Amino acid sequence: MKNFNPADNIQDLQYFGEFGGVNPSISDSSTYTFLSAKTMFDTFEGNMEGCYLYSRHSSPSNLYLDKALAAMEGTETANVSASGMGAITPTLMQLCSAGDHIVSSRTIYGGTYAFLKNFSPRLGITTTFVDITKLDVVEAAITPKTKVLYCETVSNPLLEVADIAGLAKIAKKHNLKLVVDNTFSPLSVSPVKLGADIIIHSLTKYINGSSDTVGGVTCASQEFIDSLKNVNSGASMLLGPTMDSLRSASVMKNLRTLHIRMKQHSYNAMYLAERFEKDGLKTVYPGLKSHPSHELYASMINPEYGFGGMMTLDVGTLAKANELMELMQAKNLGYLAVSLGFYKTLFSAPGTSTSSEIPMDEQIEMGLTDGLIRFSIGLDNNIERTYQIMKKCMMELNVLTSESVLME
Ligand SMILES: *Cc1c(COP(=O)(O)O)cnc(C)c1O
Repeated sequence: MKNFNPADNIQDLQYFGEFGGVNPSISDSSTYTFLSAKTMFDTFEGNMEGCYLYSRHSSPSNLYLDKALAAMEGTETANVSASGMGAITPTLMQLCSAGDHIVSSRTIYGGTYAFLKNFSPRLGITTTFVDITKLDVVEAAITPKTKVLYCETVSNPLLEVADIAGLAKIAKKHNLKLVVDNTFSPLSVSPVKLGADIIIHSLTKYINGSSDTVGGVTCASQEFIDSLKNVNSGASMLLGPTMDSLRSASVMKNLRTLHIRMKQHSYNAMYLAERFEKDGLKTVYPGLKSHPSHELYASMINPEYGFGGMMTLDVGTLAKANELMELMQAKNLGYLAVSLGFYKTLFSAPGTSTSSEIPMDEQIEMGLTDGLIRFSIGLDNNIERTYQIMKKCMMELNVLTSESVLME
């Protein structure tokens, strides 16, 4: 995987539609006919390559998207799902049975945290949450029952970076599967190259990029994806979080511009982060030298896609954060909304929104402060213009004072 470039891998795929169309035909069927009864039986048994049975199991449109996402992550294959959570929960349930244990980063997506903390114990699966940036702490949490190490490449919302190569070593040593949610850093980071076993994305975010659908994917070995889709014992097949064919065709069309979008998101976020840090605001962005994991992250990324589009600013109090977000929305700088990867900048206060599943005392312990605003920086054509308008909003609310800005 020396010259591995995820965007080139996607570019190199070639599909044609039924009538020679430049886009593959959309499979508009839930069920498929067989010319012989014997073939149907063999397909049920999983012995017929290339035959479709029923669209909860697989459909031609979903297989096209699977193939493109597997090419992007460098895995043998993939399985798309109706949402990111629809990829995460079956994957973990496939890997773990009652009595098993997971070691997970404590700074993960709120829904994943709630699943591991509140739901999976009902199935007899327990989780220890750790500071993922401390490899010795991670290793110390492993027990003989541990099956999975779980993390996000760049964590939500604190933008902590997981040392995937270091975690992969620990996983190999203890015979665990390293599962990485790479939603915040598609193309920028290729976790398989660093030794991860299974990669998950919420397609809802950057990969689809148009905030018009939810979707997810698990990228893994053929063997693992076959187990997820097994008609008798596969968590994806049996729990049924299937993506619709019309949707997978539309996500695939958006995937084709992901490389261009990621470069612009990263460029714009870096531009704003550098300026707001200089203006004296508490700015967290992995591209800044002041970020505790900057060096590590710089060594992990495919540099042409940059450090991503996520940035946080701490404006002191929740009241200030709310005021500023409302003003920025009124000035059409973006939308006060959760989620990320849209062409417009999106901002929210994670403590009261996307991370509200995390109890307040735990939020404080992990450094999730009240005045924190999470930004998903958009594709703005003229980011200097955006910066000037944002700065005006901040000065109007005394988040920035004229002294701090004049010191430049
Ligand atoms: C949004 C998100 C998810 C969940 O994805 P859905 O598509 O909303 O189900 C999982 N992980 C991360 C990092 C996310 O940002």
